[in-house]
Amino acid sequence: MRFVIVGGGPAGTEAATHAARLGVEVVLIERDIIGGAANLWDCIPSKAMIATGGAMSYLNGVGAMGVGDVSGHLDLDVVRRRIGAITGRLESSTERILESQQVEMVRGTGRLTGPHTVVATTDAGERTYVADAVMLSTGSRPRIPEWVALDDRVLTTRDAYPPEVLPEHLVVIGSGVTGVEFVHMFSSLGSRVTLIVSREQVLPRKDPEVAAVLEEDFLARGVRLLKGARAIAIEREGDTVVVRCDDGRVVEGSHALLAIGSIPNSEELGCDEAGVEVDKGGYIPINHHCQTNVEHIYAAGDLSGKLPLSSVASMQGRKIAEHVVGGHSLVAHRHLNYDKAASAIFTDPEIADVGLAEADAFAEGRKIRVTKVPFAASAKALINNDSRGFVKILSDPATGVVLGGSIVGQHAAELISVLAVAVTAGLKVNDIVESMLVHPALSEALAEAAE
Ligand SMILES: Cc1cc2nc3c(=O)[nH]c(=O)nc-3n(C[C@H](O)[C@H](O)[C@H](O)COP(=O)(O)OP(=O)(O)OC[C@H]3O[C@@H](n4cnc5c(N)ncnc54)[C@H](O)[C@@H]3O)c2cc1C
Repeated sequence: MRFVIVGGGPAGTEAATHAARLGVEVVLIERDIIGGAANLWDCIPSKAMIATGGAMSYLNGVGAMGVGDVSGHLDLDVVRRRIGAITGRLESSTERILESQQVEMVRGTGRLTGPHTVVATTDAGERTYVADAVMLSTGSRPRIPEWVALDDRVLTTRDAYPPEVLPEHLVVIGSGVTGVEFVHMFSSLGSRVTLIVSREQVLPRKDPEVAAVLEEDFLARGVRLLKGARAIAIEREGDTVVVRCDDGRVVEGSHALLAIGSIPNSEELGCDEAGVEVDKGGYIPINHHCQTNVEHIYAAGDLSGKLPLSSVASMQGRKIAEHVVGGHSLVAHRHLNYDKAASAIFTDPEIADVGLAEADAFAEGRKIRVTKVPFAASAKALINNDSRGFVKILSDPATGVVLGGSIVGQHAAELISVLAVAVTAGLKVNDIVESMLVHPALSEALAEAAE
């Protein structure tokens, strides 16, 4: 059984490792770096920059904890080297794992030439692989509207790690997850930031209570929010970037950053030759086993148009590996349930969610119990000198089963794991209440919210 994977991001590398462990002969074709865009541009560099920004913000607050005379000086060269070192280390550790599983790694561009044939174009020429199963996991790239001409001051998220000089005034276009993370990143590093928000709240799809905490933080650190405005043009006037909005408002900055979504890398994959359906948006539709309309060809990650998260991409890769060897028919196999995916936004405070959202429960007319505990009541939050935010748990009033939750506050991305396990395993609020947690710890707020 030969399994050929095109695209070595989180979906591709997880599928390759897992399938190889299950005894399959695996070929992984990657044109850039092992670990994918997630490692090179997206998850890892953005969080490394945010960590530097977080260290700078932390220094601003240590006076209240009795530490005086601390001033942070940002060295962008060090930041750049650090990001390169982290990315390099993750790439080589993933490569080592793949090598140890005897995965054949091919550096090149992969393309289907028929339902069972994949051609890899490498520096050494073309090679055709005949495959029993194929997985497409080529990810996505930033969306650049036709009215934008990129240059050294009009940037996508991929041009920002880190810039040669810190933007004096960055205009961020797009207030979804990526946009707000970049607002947080650059404002904590010291840039002045304006955020263009097309709706009336940042993070338009989030719980308004959650978005309100973030807006409060942005305003407190001097971020300008331009609400109800859609950018329609970006012009350069010397070193100034001029962003024009549909309501006539104009913002001038030193740089503009686009964070308005992504488009899937499906154009040059040979989908037509193999009979694989591609939808109007360029995504490849899949069923609950991640199979495309051609049953032995799978698609995963951003290309599949499901949740654009690295964690989801990896889990799809794992499930595909199991399906390739027929493991999905085993009793222990759990199907993917995208509704149970945890996600986080790495702002300050952090925001994390899992499972059912309150607004969706109301929209469906579903009876739920909602309990909320502010971190202001947490001993550890007070000790940490940051008591912003809250824990909210949604449960079934009849059975006590945990259906979902949101956490806003320090380390929310870590704390949500407790609720993610509860949602995945069908645990009850009482299971959390009766866990003997650490004291003093932020997780105690979870037990209180579960009470
Ligand atoms: C700024 C930013 C920050 C993000 N932060 C997070 C985060 O903190 N947490 C999170 O869970 N998600 C995050 N995401 C989303 C996450 O990066 C993606 O969901 C994830 O990378 C998708 O993984 P993937 O396997 O689909 O592909 P990718 O990581 O996009 O990798 C695809 C790979 O395929 C390769 N490829 C493409 N075409 C070919 C071809 N024809 N032949 C060979 N190789 C090919 C590419 O070179 C690439 O290496 C972030 C996204 C952005 C934009």
